[in-house]
Amino acid sequence: MITPSPAPKIKTRVLITIAAAALVVLLVLSELTAGADAWLYDSLVAGTVRHADDRVVLVDIDQRSLVELGRWPWSRRTHAQLIDHLREAEVKGVALNILLSEPALFDPEGDALLARALSRSGKVVLPVLAEPGQLNAPAIELMPIPEFAASAAALGHAEMPLDDDGVARRMFLQAGMGSAHWPALALALLQLDTGTSGNMTAKLPGLHYSAPEAASPQRWVRDHEVLIPYASSPNAFRHVSYADVLNNRIPPSLLRDRWVIVGVSALGMGTQAQVPGHPAYPGISGSDYQANVLNMLLNGAAITPLSTGWQVLLSLILVVAPLALCSLPGLQRIWRPTALMMAATILVSFLLLQFAHLWFPPVSALLVLTIGTLLWVYRRLRRTHKQAQSDPLTGLANRNRFSQVLEQEMRTTRRTGQPLSLLVLDIDHFKQLNDNQGHAAGDAVLRSLAQILRSRARRPRDLVARLGGDEFAVLLPETSAQAAATIATTVHVDLANLATNAELGNGPPAFSISVGIHTHLNEDDLTPDDLFERADNALYRAKQAGRNRSISHADEKPAFGGAPVVE
Ligand code: GH3
Ligand code: MG
Repeated sequence: MITPSPAPKIKTRVLITIAAAALVVLLVLSELTAGADAWLYDSLVAGTVRHADDRVVLVDIDQRSLVELGRWPWSRRTHAQLIDHLREAEVKGVALNILLSEPALFDPEGDALLARALSRSGKVVLPVLAEPGQLNAPAIELMPIPEFAASAAALGHAEMPLDDDGVARRMFLQAGMGSAHWPALALALLQLDTGTSGNMTAKLPGLHYSAPEAASPQRWVRDHEVLIPYASSPNAFRHVSYADVLNNRIPPSLLRDRWVIVGVSALGMGTQAQVPGHPAYPGISGSDYQANVLNMLLNGAAITPLSTGWQVLLSLILVVAPLALCSLPGLQRIWRPTALMMAATILVSFLLLQFAHLWFPPVSALLVLTIGTLLWVYRRLRRTHKQAQSDPLTGLANRNRFSQVLEQEMRTTRRTGQPLSLLVLDIDHFKQLNDNQGHAAGDAVLRSLAQILRSRARRPRDLVARLGGDEFAVLLPETSAQAAATIATTVHVDLANLATNAELGNGPPAFSISVGIHTHLNEDDLTPDDLFERADNALYRAKQAGRNRSISHADEKPAFGGAPVVE
């Protein structure tokens, strides 16, 4: 039988489902597609225009300030003056994004002045950083000195995590050594405003990680992961020079009721990072990064990455769906539901990002669907190729395939010197059988002959072919004339047994065959056509001699001559 029964089809489908599911889970968990997902994320966010909130102002320690105020580091007295200026301008809050983890060596009075300025303002947040004390040593939490920490309105962590490609896509709104106890600097700044503070603490956005049971006190723990939707242009926020603020060159109205982030922007100082979707940007400073986080929080625009569990679930649904959908009308060809789900995967990812501010990395699912499609195409090509070489009724090789193999085997015989035997067979009075018993009975006869021939030519290189109508061929490499005649005889005997069964009312109707045999030896200089013609001539002689017999081209007498079964 060549038509596949439904059972293995279901079994195959179950196996494909399990393989696709296992592969997609593996891909999601191993994060193998992270690079491609990041590229896709960058492309999707690059097209979105995002405004910078004008309530955010950056005070830059820029090249001009360094020229005017002298080499870095500056006296803490300078920072104290700046804080006083900002207080007088009635800013909403200040993030002084400068690490103040060491006391000033020769100017304790400067430290005291800054501490007092911080206290007076009551609106300054200071950064905490996790940094390895030495190379490869566990990170330590770098805090402002106690004097400053006590006078600051709040502390916030200033970590800027970079992805493997050096792009700052994400931020952890809470982090800290041993437990995620510090809010991000921008969040701490926002929380100064009592109105927003309550809101923010109650419903912090981002992917929440359940607290590790017993986190090592030396481990930097992160929580509330968000992806930052960057403002569309790198200079989107208002930047003013530190020196200009200090020397009253900025009108206070420009600072009133603004969130101010003070930090280094001069080239060569501080960390610079790439932002997603803008490879041409020269890179942004830590303060710009915090400004973008603040902008994101003010606008409620944080993008939350889906948890691994959800990613696995969604990817599973998307890759398994085509196998379920392919039973629906119009979707039977598996490439259709697969292509549909590929489009759906990208659409789901895009819609979640645009409308739910959720990021679902789709590449794992897309990859599995692509692999599925390629395998399907490969299977189809193989099946088409096989169909082109086989006879649909009997499943035997067709004339095309027979000609190819005959040529190949002739070449091998020439090389090895081994004999090559060919049997050409034709059913006797088959037209009559068809006329008397119907076409279906005729088909059953063709199939049962195919089965008998297959059972008698079992060596791996043996080939049984249906040449067309009721004509068959059996090619027997490395088989002597005598062995070929024996095989022909066994086939006649099988058919005689079949006839006995038919008389008892079992199986297909009785029939006989005539066979022509020729064995090619190396010394004969024959072409494949010559070999076939000789066997075919022998068949003709067998028909002439009364049918139901085998005649070898070399013989005068029939190799087998039984009584005809069908008259
Ligand atoms: P002979 O002993 O001389 O071979 O006589 P024959 O009746 O077998 O003559 P021939 O080989 O020319 O007849 C071929 C017949 O095979 C004609 C056609 O009705 C029948 N036939 C060809 N292909 C098929 C098929 O796929 N199914 C069935 N049932 N019959 C077929
Ligand atoms: Mg015939």
